[in-house]
Amino acid sequence: MTKHTQAFQAEVKQILHLVTHSLYSNKEIFLRELISNASDACDKLRFEALDNAALYEDQTALEVRVFFDAEAKTLTIRDNGIGMTAEEATAHLGTIAKSGTREFMARLEGDQKKDANLIGQFGVGFYSGFIVADRMTVETRRAGAPASQGVRWSSEGTGEFETETIERARRGTDVVLHLKAEEADEFLKTWRLKSVIAKYSDHISLPILMQKEEWDAEKSQQVQKDEWETVNKAAALWARNKSDITDSEYQDFYKQISYDSDAPLAYTHNRVEGRSEYTQLLYIPAKAPFDLWNRDKRGGVKLYVKRVFIMDDAEALMPVYLRFVKGVIDSADLPLNVSRELLQESRDVKAIREGSTKRVLSMLEALADSDNADDKAKYQKFWAEFGSVLKEGIGEDHANRERLAKLYRFASTHADEGVSLADYVARMKDGQEPIYVIAADSLATAKSSPQLEIFRKKGIEVLLLTDRVDEWLLSHLYEFEGKPLQSVAKGAVDLGKLQDEEEKKQAQAVAETFKPTLDRLTQALKARAKEVRTTTRLVDSPACLVVEEGDMSGHLARMLKQAGQSAPKVQPILEVNPEHALLKRLGNEAAEERFADLAHILFDQATLAEGGQLEDPAAYVARVTKLLSA
Ligand code: ADP
Repeated sequence: MTKHTQAFQAEVKQILHLVTHSLYSNKEIFLRELISNASDACDKLRFEALDNAALYEDQTALEVRVFFDAEAKTLTIRDNGIGMTAEEATAHLGTIAKSGTREFMARLEGDQKKDANLIGQFGVGFYSGFIVADRMTVETRRAGAPASQGVRWSSEGTGEFETETIERARRGTDVVLHLKAEEADEFLKTWRLKSVIAKYSDHISLPILMQKEEWDAEKSQQVQKDEWETVNKAAALWARNKSDITDSEYQDFYKQISYDSDAPLAYTHNRVEGRSEYTQLLYIPAKAPFDLWNRDKRGGVKLYVKRVFIMDDAEALMPVYLRFVKGVIDSADLPLNVSRELLQESRDVKAIREGSTKRVLSMLEALADSDNADDKAKYQKFWAEFGSVLKEGIGEDHANRERLAKLYRFASTHADEGVSLADYVARMKDGQEPIYVIAADSLATAKSSPQLEIFRKKGIEVLLLTDRVDEWLLSHLYEFEGKPLQSVAKGAVDLGKLQDEEEKKQAQAVAETFKPTLDRLTQALKARAKEVRTTTRLVDSPACLVVEEGDMSGHLARMLKQAGQSAPKVQPILEVNPEHALLKRLGNEAAEERFADLAHILFDQATLAEGGQLEDPAAYVARVTKLLSA
């Protein structure tokens, strides 16, 4: 093949621009990215070679070498991993196949510190070479392919790249950076490179080799010898003894595997022995990633078998609702050639998943139940970042329902945040049976719901559920410690023992007297309300809407509509407060037309009060105007 010039995919161009311009203050990270790619390439070879040992050719020791030529101003990262074919080089180094690119770009335009993390999270690592290089040359050959099928890829990192076929005896990849004059000279010094490698790549489990140097008295400078030494620890952190690992080593390791520059909120490291033998090192991040909502997003747990890397994001190792957990699981029992399909079925994996889930929940409980104010604050932070995802667990993980429910936090009429179900139960009134809740679009709407009035008056706490997933949560979390969760916007209000006989009798008497007006209201609103009835739940408001016990709430129906889904049309029940001045006035209204207008206004206002939209706003405005100008 002769030289072939191609344009980068548009997204690559944009990313190149952003990467080279916005990451300049943190330029050393290019080395971490390229070493990480080299190490991945070796892992891939090891994995493919499980079925095809010939891929090793005559070199089984996998390694990464970093070396430079001070005169030519080049820095090379060499691996003897899987390598690339010509097609692969074009595809992998010329396009970005991943979804979510646009979202990523939007983020990159934010502040610089965040950028440095995101770049790694998204994995556009290769292009970071252009932060320090004005040309990158990649020479590569796919393991197992003949020497005649080598490829040279080269680009100045602007609009296009060139590829050509070359002879290459060596398997694997050389990434050669032609460093920008002067501004990148620091990367032509052994000590500088070593310190960057120590900072970011110590735990890469392959050896990273650099040339030894010695002092040349004649030239009075360091000269490179033809001898190589390993410059990273190359020991899997998780395989070491807990007591030999410092907190800062754990933190550094987290940063390496997560590309998160913030410290993790908590971590746990255990060797599990028994029916299934494995080591787990799991971290809870402090911040949610930008794509947390994507349930198909790759998880953060890497699978190793006896310290051999098997795969990233082994989703079978963690339930979906814990997809934010990062870390490593190293199994002693699984076969090295385990596939994703096999993982799904393996009993060992099931045991690992159960064990790891319990560990994560214990970590969270330790923070949530701690007497230490710092830990409590950490849990609050965790809840704010990941609470909505943890709620998915109630539908997904039956075995841990109780533990999950205890970890949930809500707002209530007593406190704007941080109320656990246990707190609520401890504050329940004598004789109160259900846990009362209301779901709404926002805390403000929830707080001013007319449905809450009687509860407020009697000092009964109501949980205010304002998270989008809360309606869904309610359909799975129907009880806690034997106490049913009861929506105050569904069904007739029944305060049971919380209402005394006197009150009940009085309410009945009022309802009796109101009966004729109620019949007129029912008639006037028969096209809109399933039923009109009197209620004792209102104190200050004239009316409110509720739905029947089994019906979909107005709030959920609105959410579905917003999401572009269809919701069954449910006719609400209009509940009225016969003690209210407006209702009394209605009782005295003889003119049928005015009565009907007032009835419709009552209904429309009840809709507005719960954050709903009027079906016919113009008609509402016309009626109010008519009344105001009468
Ligand atoms: P990521 O590593 O997150 O996929 P990069 O932009 O760093 O993103 O690399 C893109 C792709 O190029 C990699 O997924 C891999 O297929 C290929 N690649 C990069 N470096 C190497 C290498 N040293 N050896 C083999 N393939 C590589």
